Amino acid sequence: MGTVTDYFGSLVFDDRVMKATLSAKVYASLKKTIDEGAKLDISVANAVAVAMKDWAVAHGATHYTHWFQPLTGITAEKHDSFISPSPDGGVIMEFSGKELIKGEPDASSFPSGGLRATFEARGYTAWDPTSYAFIKGKTLCIPTAFCSYGGEALDKKTPLLRSMEALNKQALRILRLFGNDKVKCVRTSVGPEQEYFLVTKEMYDQRPDLRFTGRTLFGAKPPKGQEMDDHYFGVIKPRVAAYMEELNDELWKLGILAKTEHNEVAPAQHELAPIYTTTNIATDHNQLTMEIMQKVAAKHGLVCLLHEKPFAGVNGSGKHNNWSISTDAGVNLLSPGETPYENAQFLLFLCAVIKAVDDYQDLLRISVATAGNDHRLGANEAPPAVVSIFLGDELNAVLEAIETDTPYSGAEKTQMKLGVNVLPKFNRDTTDRNRTSPFAFTGNKFEFRMLGSSNSIACANIMLNSAVAEALKIYADRLEAAEDFEASLHEMIKKTIKDHKHIIFNGNGYDDSWIKEATENRGLLNYRTTADCMPHLLDKKNVDMLTSHKVFSEAELKSRYEIMLENYCKTIIIEANTMVDMAKTQIAPAVAAYAKEVAKTATTKKALDSTIACSYETGLVKRLSALTDRIAIKADELENALLDLHTAEDIGTEANAIRDTILAKMGELRVPCDEAETLTAKTYWPMPTYADLLFGVK
Ligand code: ADP
Ligand code: MG
Repeated sequence: MGTVTDYFGSLVFDDRVMKATLSAKVYASLKKTIDEGAKLDISVANAVAVAMKDWAVAHGATHYTHWFQPLTGITAEKHDSFISPSPDGGVIMEFSGKELIKGEPDASSFPSGGLRATFEARGYTAWDPTSYAFIKGKTLCIPTAFCSYGGEALDKKTPLLRSMEALNKQALRILRLFGNDKVKCVRTSVGPEQEYFLVTKEMYDQRPDLRFTGRTLFGAKPPKGQEMDDHYFGVIKPRVAAYMEELNDELWKLGILAKTEHNEVAPAQHELAPIYTTTNIATDHNQLTMEIMQKVAAKHGLVCLLHEKPFAGVNGSGKHNNWSISTDAGVNLLSPGETPYENAQFLLFLCAVIKAVDDYQDLLRISVATAGNDHRLGANEAPPAVVSIFLGDELNAVLEAIETDTPYSGAEKTQMKLGVNVLPKFNRDTTDRNRTSPFAFTGNKFEFRMLGSSNSIACANIMLNSAVAEALKIYADRLEAAEDFEASLHEMIKKTIKDHKHIIFNGNGYDDSWIKEATENRGLLNYRTTADCMPHLLDKKNVDMLTSHKVFSEAELKSRYEIMLENYCKTIIIEANTMVDMAKTQIAPAVAAYAKEVAKTATTKKALDSTIACSYETGLVKRLSALTDRIAIKADELENALLDLHTAEDIGTEANAIRDTILAKMGELRVPCDEAETLTAKTYWPMPTYADLLFGVK
């Protein structure tokens, strides 16, 4: 296969291929579209389409697809072949600019939350030329956005691109105020760290809960879990190492900068991190990464679990969204500068993020809300559902000094006056990192840690970009009108610190006392579940902000609210149905069969010698019978609760009912089932246990 440098990006129609296969004129024109968003001429599109098709066919492709990210599910694609009949009875391979730019998948089954009227159920896909096309199997995949004929976004990509544009627009205004008129555009970059579990396919197949819901719905605590911390960064097992090696190769061929991998805290849990890149590309890459992770696992007889909480009592999986803002010249605006003036600019961007996170805590919480992620947030393993910011002691001290006009007592005592002093460099300190904060400053970027492992990173970045754009807009409006720029800058930074410092928390976010302090003394929001937070998507302040930056229309927000809650309800209903089914058809019969066996043993013993007490057998049979009775009762109760749901009138009410009754009943059914597991002979237990699953991959 050659060395990595030979095959890296070999399946991507990237800049190198474009340069080599397009005429200078076409290349220049396409570059202008990619870099500056210039409109694409159809003649250019035709030329690109032909070059793309020839390149793809030379790499074995026979089909093409417009690859997009619908509102649920991972990614969607519909394959069309390049073939077109030729008059001599053969075929030619064809692909036009029109087919490249726009597709019309008959995608009427994708959720639209009422956006597509039934008479026009179709939407169309539009090429995103900023994200390179690539080959998967025998298909050329063209990254696209997915919209309705009314122009409403039906996917996650469209609002993400709009949010990037909103932030670009406002950040440029700020940079101009600082005298920087060379910068052409400002972009956000993301490096998402992806956690996952690996289990063997053989065991996976024996667990209906894993197959239907992606997580275990039953399972007693194993004798050994993660308490020894011996898995974290431990030696990678041979089968896992072989998996990671092939995964890297596949990702590299697709131009994905997979960089680090290591074992995570829980047994069977691992992490993969790529090198960061522009947000929309990082989003496409993360979707592809999740897909390839599952494909490669299948080749190794493994299953990659991307669920946020596959095992109760064991750490779940998240995704860390490392996020920064930089200019087209590569200057990171979240990095303290070399000169006092650059520092002032850095502090302004920092303040914009602080203000944005505080003003839109609810949107950030909403952006990571799913039924799966609700199991993590606030479970002493992931950040709590309360959003707060970690800045670190040094930066915190700088902000305090500015707020109170007192000398900053860093290395040498200096009065912090913006535009005069040089800030200390905030090098990230790996020994003193706060891993419990939902939103941590790590030297030159922020790490948003609340995302669930299976989430698309689009949602979190849409909200983050938009909220920061809004803060920058407020600053730019004021500064553009200011008579004394420096004085007003200083005042604005001071005021932001004063008004928003309640969101800054440098302590232990896993501590219960923090939740009390955050909610009771600081008034921070604590939306524990998806059902709790989702209605706030439609709060006036959120709708106003998101529509004013043209990230979403009001209709799009309403549709997203519907879809997210529908998804929440469906997920939990499927879980509940699976539980009832497993309890009734697998667990209760297994426990009863074992009880019968134990009872038979007692009868046999008594027949031999009637004076044998058989107290072990008698006691066990009694306990097992009591448990099977309880399992039957609880399964019926859950089943009845599910039937009652169908009377709920709207999605919000249904979601609340599910949160309050179904989840509780699921918990009640699990208790006797898990207890029965600890009393039933292993040979009778109908499925692999936690110990089998967690320690099964050698
Ligand atoms: P950790 O200790 O959290 O694993 P790393 O240094 O490995 O931290 O970085 C985690 C992720 O952050 C990587 O994906 C990396 O590429 C990304 N990252 C680094 N710098 C930036 C930046 N300026 N903007 C966005 N992401 C970044
Ligand atoms: Mg991290």
